[in-house]
Amino acid sequence: MVDPRPYCRLAKILCILAFPAISSITFSSAIEKTDIAFVSRGYSGTVLYPTINSFQPETASVLAGLSKISVGKVSSFEIFDGGIDSNDSDYKDSDEDINPASTTHDVVVVGAGSAGLYAAKTLNEYGYEVMIIEATNRIGGRVKSESLGDMRVELGAEEHYRATGDNPVWNAVRDAYGESIYVSPYLGRTALSMDGSSNTCWRKSSALHPCGDDSDVAIFDDFGNWYWEPNQHLDPGSSLAEDVADKYGVDASHRAYHLYDVGFAGGSYATNLDQLGARSLALQSNQWDLSNSTQTLGDKDLGYSDVLETLWWDDVVTNSDLLLSSPVVSIDTSGDDVVITDSSGATHAARQVIVTVSIGVLQSEMINFIPDLPEATVAAYKGIGMDMGMKVPMRFSSAWWETEGEALAWLVTEGLAGACWVPSDYKVDSSSHILMCYPMGDNGTALNDIAVAAGGAAAGDAAIIDAILADLDGTFPQALGLASANYVEGIVQNWGAEPYTLGVYSYPKIGTYATASDSRRRDLQDPVANERVFFAGEGTHITHPSTVPGALNEGGRAARAVHAINGQPNNPPNSVPVSVKTIDIDGNGKFDALTDGLLILRSMFGLSGTPLISGVVADDAVYKYSGQIQSRIAALGDRIDIDNDGRTDALTDALLILRYLFGLRGDLLIAGVVSDNAQRSEASDIEAHLLELITPEPS
Ligand SMILES: Cc1cc2nc3c(=O)[nH]c(=O)nc-3n(C[C@H](O)[C@H](O)[C@H](O)COP(=O)(O)OP(=O)(O)OC[C@H]3O[C@@H](n4cnc5c(N)ncnc54)[C@H](O)[C@@H]3O)c2cc1C
Repeated sequence: MVDPRPYCRLAKILCILAFPAISSITFSSAIEKTDIAFVSRGYSGTVLYPTINSFQPETASVLAGLSKISVGKVSSFEIFDGGIDSNDSDYKDSDEDINPASTTHDVVVVGAGSAGLYAAKTLNEYGYEVMIIEATNRIGGRVKSESLGDMRVELGAEEHYRATGDNPVWNAVRDAYGESIYVSPYLGRTALSMDGSSNTCWRKSSALHPCGDDSDVAIFDDFGNWYWEPNQHLDPGSSLAEDVADKYGVDASHRAYHLYDVGFAGGSYATNLDQLGARSLALQSNQWDLSNSTQTLGDKDLGYSDVLETLWWDDVVTNSDLLLSSPVVSIDTSGDDVVITDSSGATHAARQVIVTVSIGVLQSEMINFIPDLPEATVAAYKGIGMDMGMKVPMRFSSAWWETEGEALAWLVTEGLAGACWVPSDYKVDSSSHILMCYPMGDNGTALNDIAVAAGGAAAGDAAIIDAILADLDGTFPQALGLASANYVEGIVQNWGAEPYTLGVYSYPKIGTYATASDSRRRDLQDPVANERVFFAGEGTHITHPSTVPGALNEGGRAARAVHAINGQPNNPPNSVPVSVKTIDIDGNGKFDALTDGLLILRSMFGLSGTPLISGVVADDAVYKYSGQIQSRIAALGDRIDIDNDGRTDALTDALLILRYLFGLRGDLLIAGVVSDNAQRSEASDIEAHLLELITPEPS
């Protein structure tokens, strides 16, 4: 029963909202429930709320951010810190954090990269309540833009595929930013380092060394018409390096091997030639269904992650719960719910989970699946390739590489730099000179080793850049030493060392594809744990893996699969075909102020998702997902307009319900909480109406 002591009455909403957590919190000494107010620990300032109503808009964020409950005299509406006198003898503090250690959702999505965010977007559109749990402190995953010089550079995905195939990006970007936003990425001519600096050739007939004069380069040009044909690669156990040696006589000791190894395998598949399965690659490439031509964002102030955030992710984050910096450590499907535990020990229950972590993360087995994943799933993620690699954009004081008076479209080196290009050339109006190098596979591993030996962190990055500059210094015969001489600053994005990516992107190794339709990527799409755990990401796409559109498509596929299994979302208005006659909101057969009453109060305050249900759903609840709860409250309609003033209001109707469920009757029930326009204002009428709402229908 509520003890309406003055200081609690002053902060009555806060007292009531704080109730639910009290039973599960340890206090160092016994306290009266009614003495409770919020303290948001870690909050350093003081916010003055002149009236209770003025606090109302803040309830959602307070509930979400609440870390502790303290009790004491509430002297003002300065609820945070300043609102409670901690020197008063009444002051007591909860021993533990009460920040909800457990939450419940319709669906949890693990990973806030392209696949995870698109899955959440799709689920939100169906009406699901979604929590996204992300290991790092940012969203976007392998789409990551940063500033260097006067422009945005891409540390992950850079090329945009045209509209061909199932690509949601192209038209959305052009619709939002205009057709001229897209420009051609590789302007100028290709240069290929050969025989050290001595024979580096340019694809230009008047160059010092024209590539057309080099017969080994001419043979490499044929390779592009051959590697992707399955009938040219019949041996399922052969690497592409072996097939190239058989076909062209080019093995690892050949002077042109780096063109295949670094230029092709590294530049396109982020690995080495000997890691690619020849038949797997051909089967994958032969059914490639995105455009073969790509464009990039010409606006120097816009990066890939900037446009995706504006187009979609800002809304997704608004419409979902998002937990950052919370690596998932286990996914337990042994009970009725899927229980996802993050590294803080917090648990998140859901009906289904969509896991969108990279192939490298799955292979590391940092997420403990309980019970173990089926053998086919383990074989699937182990059967897909993912190697070390990094992107290293470097700013120079001049375009020192333009040794033939031409822009440099694409460079393949023989050292650690790998393949490089010039993003500042396609960024309209950029005056920076930025060379992007792409050391993948063995080059990525070697550079990572150099960074580790240098002590990692900034010293490691500096060592990587030194090693790349040393390679570039010796690449062009007319520009010896000019890379180091012109270097200004750079960024190292070492994807292989990112603990929550562990590689660059997936590639087809030997055995990844047995036939076009029988692949480990396909196997990984199969849901497990009785259709409650789904995998999605660039690595699960069969016909255009390793791309942003592929990841988006896979997030969408998994979300649709979840929806197909549920039949319909749990969320209102259509989900629970409810005819709700009583205020037993959680369906446990009881009428309880601290569960049913608070659910109605929070709902009338406009809370949804976790803030709606956190801590206030009974253990024996039949309806425990926020969507179900919302549906049931919505289905009550004007029955919960208790004072019959034509609208449902937290400060009148919900408080009447709460007081009634706490046992208050007569004047104590209605004092101060009946609206001026009430058509039902007498205590006896209100009690009669509330009695109906707690009277189960005869079964
Ligand atoms: C260097 C590079 C260049 C590329 N170039 C292109 C290109 O030009 N064009 C193109 O279309 N694509 C390109 N790609 C590929 C594209 O970026 C990816 O295919 C796509 O971004 C992958 O999205 P995803 O959601 O599958 O994975 P990710 O983006 O990796 O998202 C997975 C998320 O899961 C999180 N996570 C991992 N472990 C946990 C855990 N335990 N708990 C919680 N969260 C976790 C990660 O932090 C990450 O945010 C490139 C990628 C790289 C790295």
